[in-house]
Amino acid sequence: MAGTALRRRLTWQVAKVSAVTAETITLDVPDWPGHQAGQHLDIRLTDEDGYVAERSYSIASAPGELVAITVERLDDGEVSPYLTDELRAGDDLELRGPIGGYFIWEPEDGGPLLLLAGGSGVVPLRSIVRHRERSGSTVPVRLLYSSRTLDDVIYRAELDQPARGVEVIHALTRHQPPGWTGYARRVDAALLAEVAWPAAEMPVAYVCGPTSFVETVSQALVQSGYPPQRVKTERFGATGGT
Ligand SMILES: Cc1cc2nc3c(=O)[nH]c(=O)nc-3n(C[C@H](O)[C@H](O)[C@H](O)COP(=O)(O)OP(=O)(O)OC[C@H]3O[C@@H](n4cnc5c(N)ncnc54)[C@H](O)[C@@H]3O)c2cc1C
Repeated sequence: MAGTALRRRLTWQVAKVSAVTAETITLDVPDWPGHQAGQHLDIRLTDEDGYVAERSYSIASAPGELVAITVERLDDGEVSPYLTDELRAGDDLELRGPIGGYFIWEPEDGGPLLLLAGGSGVVPLRSIVRHRERSGSTVPVRLLYSSRTLDDVIYRAELDQPARGVEVIHALTRHQPPGWTGYARRVDAALLAEVAWPAAEMPVAYVCGPTSFVETVSQALVQSGYPPQRVKTERFGATGGT
């Protein structure tokens, strides 16, 4: 049974793009076994010469919702500009998933939850926040989200109206609008000391974003007393710089 499920998850299949908005690409995946909050999928692009490029994208939607991804455009990237600029509703897209059994959250995992995002690292954390709400969980959540500027904040409208029990704290590292009251610097141990739940409350932390962000934040949390097994990390690679 588990073997069949695994084979299906790891088999490439063709999905149909059902909608494209400024923030999300929604996919109609014919053979989708369902996903958990925090998982990702792989996308494979093949050009007319047979050149193949493969990238991973976190699933932005909650379990039970249509599969959606959010892609941050890297101007000099190979795959992300195609996904953000060229893809239209009705297009085919080759993918496999869902993937990942570690960076996931289920209501029975409890909390309080400390969600720490750098740039597009907010994507799987959005899935977790939505899953919490849809499942009726009331665990308290603190989401600390580091972006370069306010314009770079993904899901801004949604995050401006968080569900009850969800606190969203922004850090803008490069430019802040006039009257900005959030943090105006990079996330470091001192900032975390102000924002993180005390270790004594037995929080679970999920840290996601560019590798350097994840390293800095997870090390600081462990140094502040978080048990390493309660600090879950997902590295998106060298990209970012938040
Ligand atoms: C589990 C997981 C989940 C992810 N989820 C998301 C998500 O939800 N949203 C999202 O936007 N991204 C996500 N990513 C990142 C994503 O997979 C891609 O890495 C990202 O979209 C960049 O791909 P690209 O092809 O556009 O850029 P690439 O062509 O891969 O380039 C990336 C950067 O590296 C630099 N670079 C490329 N080649 C070299 C080289 N040889 N030497 C030096 N620098 C180089 C480029 O200048 C560019 O800035 C995730 C990654 C992982 C591993």
